[in-house]
Amino acid sequence: MDFAGLPEHAPHAAQTVPSVRLRELNQAPPRPGGKWVLYWMQGQRRARYNFALQHARDLARVYQKPLLVLETLRQDEPWASGRFHRFVLEGMADNAAAFARGPACYAARLAPTAEDERQLVEALGARACAVVADGLPASPAQRIAHALAPRLEVAMVEVDGHGLLPLRRTSKPHATARGFRRVLHELAPESFAAWPRAAPLRCAALPPLTTPVELRERWPALCPAQLQDLEAVTSELPFSGSPGPCGTRGGSRGARARLAEFVATGVGTYGAERNHPDDEGGSGLSPYLHFGHIATHEVLRALELHPHRFEPARAGKREGFWGAPEDTEAFLDELLTWRELALNAAAHLPYYAQYRSLPGWARATLEAHASDPRPALHGVAQLAAGETGDPVWNAAQRQLRTEGTMHGYLRMLWGKRILEWTACPQEAFEVMVELNNRYALDGRDPSSYAGIAWVLGRYDRAWGPERPIFGTVRYMSSRNTRRKLRLDAYLQRYGAAD
Ligand SMILES: Cc1cc2nc3c(=O)[nH]c(=O)nc-3n(C[C@H](O)[C@H](O)[C@H](O)COP(=O)(O)OP(=O)(O)OC[C@H]3O[C@@H](n4cnc5c(N)ncnc54)[C@H](O)[C@@H]3O)c2cc1C
Repeated sequence: MDFAGLPEHAPHAAQTVPSVRLRELNQAPPRPGGKWVLYWMQGQRRARYNFALQHARDLARVYQKPLLVLETLRQDEPWASGRFHRFVLEGMADNAAAFARGPACYAARLAPTAEDERQLVEALGARACAVVADGLPASPAQRIAHALAPRLEVAMVEVDGHGLLPLRRTSKPHATARGFRRVLHELAPESFAAWPRAAPLRCAALPPLTTPVELRERWPALCPAQLQDLEAVTSELPFSGSPGPCGTRGGSRGARARLAEFVATGVGTYGAERNHPDDEGGSGLSPYLHFGHIATHEVLRALELHPHRFEPARAGKREGFWGAPEDTEAFLDELLTWRELALNAAAHLPYYAQYRSLPGWARATLEAHASDPRPALHGVAQLAAGETGDPVWNAAQRQLRTEGTMHGYLRMLWGKRILEWTACPQEAFEVMVELNNRYALDGRDPSSYAGIAWVLGRYDRAWGPERPIFGTVRYMSSRNTRRKLRLDAYLQRYGAAD
């Protein structure tokens, strides 16, 4: 039996990616006589610290064939807009520059529909030795890849490089951050021992390849001139224009610049400042992590984490396990515990992106209060415009709408108030999903659904006293937020009508 696209006789050392990160998507064998190895890049959109690229390279080495990297972006993606497309296109420009150093052949394709994309991958797959895919768990990209795999007559392998912990290293959904943190810490030494290559193509002697005819004629890839003029490419997209680009530069270069700045000036005060909107204390890395422009591994490397500093006696504790300064530990708990808990749900929790995935106690208490009178009812359009009677909420929504991001602490309050302003908790869930995913650069991510579900009780416990609308789900108010946090400058900045 061939494994993960490699022939049976391949030497053990030929596979450098841990098996737990590899999943065969079909029964078809690899085709050693194929023209290339195809890496279909949709989730891990980067040239560095990329397990999928590394596995594709391993296959290309074994078959001694060129490596074709095809990065696609569909125009019919849910919530497609100039904002997200511009961010991904900037990533494509960075990738084109990174792959220009060889030895892979890189092509970026804007596909009008999923069907167009499927036909292209099927055509390129028909001439491949093997196909490598890399979609986020339960994402539209992954669903499309899984539907395509049985149609291909060549081995298709999915590579999981989304986080530090391989998704299949856990087999069940975790209900609490506390339980998940313990597992994450227990498996950390093993996860660190299997690190992706920083530059997987460096010194990889592979045969060269010029852009295949399919990508020149029937499904033309973006040419270098187009990747230099993204303003023009974005303006020709068939979207209504809203929301448009928001000024944050996407791509691996933008991601690395953000990371360098955060390591130099932000992480040292993360614990003390991140909750205060005036201090803008977050890393701002979430959009880059969402689109795969940067790997968790690269972030951890920049923070100089090392297993010899781990403190096993602190396993399961929120701070102290990683052997890093206190502020760095606080950041790591978000990046590793909370982000990977969200990935765990996407991989293992049925309906994780729907209201019905909330824990039973939360649904029961919210539904018992579903007919409680609401202080006001606001429709999606009014909410999107930030036109409620709550200046803190309006400011947060305005930041989201104009900048594609929202201060991390205010995101929680933002969701809690939507629960109060919608007719029932199911509607609150839908409205949060719609606004978050329409405007947030990091939207449509497992962490989006984890955050929204948290607002309604997931990963939390019941809190007293029982209140109208919330029941025993944790309550938050704008009044308390104003009292506890520094946000005068924030309100000045985002409070005025735009
Ligand atoms: C209602 C609501 C909606 C949210 N929507 C999203 C979303 O669409 N996309 C998204 O990535 N996160 C979302 N979050 C989680 C969190 O608010 C953001 O990840 C964080 O604000 C991103 O800013 P940052 O990169 O500066 O984070 P930092 O504070 O610098 O944290 C570092 C990284 O850890 C991860 N992280 C931090 N907090 C969380 C969390 N609570 N859950 C999961 N991962 C976390 C992110 O990848 C983040 O980039 C949401 C939270 C709530 C309450």
